[in-house]
Amino acid sequence: MRIGILGAGQLAQMMAQAAPGLGLECGFLAPEADACAAPYGRHWQASFDDQEAVAELVEWADVITYESENVSLTLVESLSKQLPVYPPVAALQAARDRGEEKQLCRSLGVATADFALINSSSELPGALAKLGCPAILKTCREGYDGKGQVWLRSAEDLPAAVEQADATACVLEAVVPFQREISAIAARSIDGAVSCFSLSENIHREGILRLTINRRNDSQQQQAEQLIGRLMEQLNYVGVLALELFDVAGELRVNEIAPRVHNTGHWTPAGARHSQFEAHLLAVAGRSLPSLDWSNDCAMINIIGALPDQTAIDAITGASLHLYGKSPRPGRKLGHINLIFSPHQSPTQRLDELRKLLILVGEGEIADRLEASWL
Ligand code: ATP
Ligand code: MG
Repeated sequence: MRIGILGAGQLAQMMAQAAPGLGLECGFLAPEADACAAPYGRHWQASFDDQEAVAELVEWADVITYESENVSLTLVESLSKQLPVYPPVAALQAARDRGEEKQLCRSLGVATADFALINSSSELPGALAKLGCPAILKTCREGYDGKGQVWLRSAEDLPAAVEQADATACVLEAVVPFQREISAIAARSIDGAVSCFSLSENIHREGILRLTINRRNDSQQQQAEQLIGRLMEQLNYVGVLALELFDVAGELRVNEIAPRVHNTGHWTPAGARHSQFEAHLLAVAGRSLPSLDWSNDCAMINIIGALPDQTAIDAITGASLHLYGKSPRPGRKLGHINLIFSPHQSPTQRLDELRKLLILVGEGEIADRLEASWL
């Protein structure tokens, strides 16, 4: 079976790498000449509104999926009239717009940060008075890795917020006093069966994910599965869905919904019986879902901006390097490292290994603040 993927970045690449083992094949529609997924399948190097390329993709593919919620909704709607598209259009519509996403959560009784929709800067003072300071003004669309976000901590931050609010539709969010950030990643098959990975606990710096560890038997697992199940059912979802969550004294609030495989699930090839990439492909291909049970405790460290010393990484037992083949640029995700912990390691030994890797990728600050009890 042939899976047509809109986009050809690292998420598409990792899906395509998982495909042959499942008897599947991937092809990509993406404008970039140097798209990193391109070596792993047929690549239509064209923009999303290139009619000829889209027609060829439709002719080639049996089913369509996408690697980003920032894909053209018009294209996805039009494709869904011609062949199956998963996750369904309704999921894309909700997840691509922070305002719609929050309203969907609210309608299902799923908690989020307190928020106000902002259509122009004149609405900012009233919303700020209601939500309090600090608050975050986020563009409804196109944001990722903390882009399109203005933190309002003092009057000095106001001009940037006014400019953003007048340029595009935004949501203003109260800052959530979370104890930790976690994510739930689940897959749902066409027949409605849902399977969830063990939770990921995530550490961000400057709005970008740096480190994730998987949590076997987390105390919030059931609560998170219940939330993700509710959203999936409402959306008649097919494929992998990720929920970014804030844990506030044991109560979960949804930060974002991602209708796709997710960076916080990159540990799954090392720490679960099947990866998120396999799970997504199987679901969209109409196959039944395998067990997504935990298999190893592990951590995933993002490589951002610059390539680390590979030999030093190879020397760490349990570490495996995964590079996407992208050229280095500040802030760009270039790859990740999965670190499998041995059941025989003490928390202190685990922390030692993790720290070495964090330092190798320039995350010494995170290495310094971690404690063995966290592992
Ligand atoms: P990504 O692409 O990594 O998901 P993004 O650009 O979509 O990022 P968000 O997930 O909204 O942005 O925010 C990035 C990070 O900023 C969050 O993971 C969290 O650490 C922090 N953050 C965002 N919103 C809030 C909030 N309301 N309260 C507290 N922290 C927040
Ligand atoms: Mg996010």
